[in-house]
Amino acid sequence: QWSRVLERLKTECEEGVFNSWFKPLALVNVDEGCAVMAAPTRFMRNWLQSNYAERIRQAWSKENPDVTDISIIVLSGFKSAEPQGTLLDNDEQDEARPSASERKQTAAGRKPKASGETRVVQNNSGTEFGAPLDPRFTFDSFVVGKSNELAYAAARRVAENTAVHFNPLFLHGGVGLGKTHLMHAIAWANKQMFPERRVLYLSAEQFMYQFISSIRFKDTMSFKQKFRSVDLLMIDDLQFIANKESTQEEFFHTFNALIDHHHQVVISADRSPTDLEGIEERIRSRLGWGLVADIHPTDYELRLGILQQKANSVPEVEIQTEVLEFLAKRITSNVRELEGALNRMVAHATLIGRPITMEMTQEVLQDLLRANDRRVTIDEIQRRVADYFNIRLSDLLSSRRARQVARPRQIAMYLAKEMTSKSLPEIGRKFGGRDHTTVMHAVKRIDELRQTDSVLEEDILHLERIFST
Ligand code: ADP
Ligand code: MG
Repeated sequence: QWSRVLERLKTECEEGVFNSWFKPLALVNVDEGCAVMAAPTRFMRNWLQSNYAERIRQAWSKENPDVTDISIIVLSGFKSAEPQGTLLDNDEQDEARPSASERKQTAAGRKPKASGETRVVQNNSGTEFGAPLDPRFTFDSFVVGKSNELAYAAARRVAENTAVHFNPLFLHGGVGLGKTHLMHAIAWANKQMFPERRVLYLSAEQFMYQFISSIRFKDTMSFKQKFRSVDLLMIDDLQFIANKESTQEEFFHTFNALIDHHHQVVISADRSPTDLEGIEERIRSRLGWGLVADIHPTDYELRLGILQQKANSVPEVEIQTEVLEFLAKRITSNVRELEGALNRMVAHATLIGRPITMEMTQEVLQDLLRANDRRVTIDEIQRRVADYFNIRLSDLLSSRRARQVARPRQIAMYLAKEMTSKSLPEIGRKFGGRDHTTVMHAVKRIDELRQTDSVLEEDILHLERIFST
């Protein structure tokens, strides 16, 4: 059967694509309508997942209509084209797991399955139920910067202590900034340090789904019991239960019961408790009783740090530093996109067997770069900077040399150079017809000052943040 799926894929795509991506795959097993396949490297798995998952699924369902879902895991050191079912049955060999010692502790934690599904996991500490944890999301792989240091420190505190310091911990921030990553990291670390603790992680959507099915199957008692017996409950993306009244009601009771018994609760959402529209007032107010940690949009340094870490994890591909700097500067939307961009570059480089250069980057990422173009105009920069420093726009554009207008003017020129694709002469013209050497001087001056003047550095970071959101 697997060989027929492979045959089908082979006829459907180019030989190069087939040999690079599909041929190295091996079948692990087919279980409850889910075909589990193994790829030899994490990189291949990610690439297949994001580019060929649907095609593989279709090939499967044509050969075997029972298969409705597929899943790809990482398994190093195997030979491909093995016969069905002989590869492995437990996932202890999954190299994507955090570390050998952690792997022991969490051996029962995860069996390959389609993501987003809830299920029951047995381990030696009893019964758990919840969503699968991503083995890549650990504290080790989380890069800390100004924008997320509070959330990170709080998450570590929760993971490494059984005493409750703040309850709940409420993490909030925009899409793709690491909330889910931190929650999984808490779960992994906690399982490692306190294997007997019952940790439950699930999305608010899954919470609702479980609650509703407990009503349908007239089993709300065991639902309540299950949720109230955990030591650490983490619910991701709470905004999902906005306007879902009965689910909120149940959540509120679960939440109170755990907090009253000093069991830790961690909640994430895409906005702060007070801004959670559609969530009952009494819940919103209780959510703010513990620690509320905001994850801000990333800054350049953090983005570069994240890219460097990811680049180090694929030592087989050479990536010029210049490329990483370029990506960190240009892809500001969120970390997920940043990773996506790097993955695409790595895939490209692997296929054509050349190191990643600037030229290749610009070519391969054309669409992404365009989408991320902040499209900030010089007018907007001038307006914002004048606002920020509380000076008049006309003064900013005038020839006045008083320091309280000259410095903001230089900053505005600097930002115009950084954030738009305008040339120095064009920028000069926009600033009351100044010469391009004046602009160049301003850019150099601010660049230098950023190194030594921390107040100015703060101002610039703040302004950059305004423009990148
Ligand atoms: P959210 O849940 O806030 O939408 P995720 O936790 O899913 O975001 O993060 C999106 C992706 O970005 C994940 O692959 C995650 O590993 C990565 N990521 C986000 N922040 C960081 C960070 N500080 N260091 C390393 N990876 C990060
Ligand atoms: Mg998330």
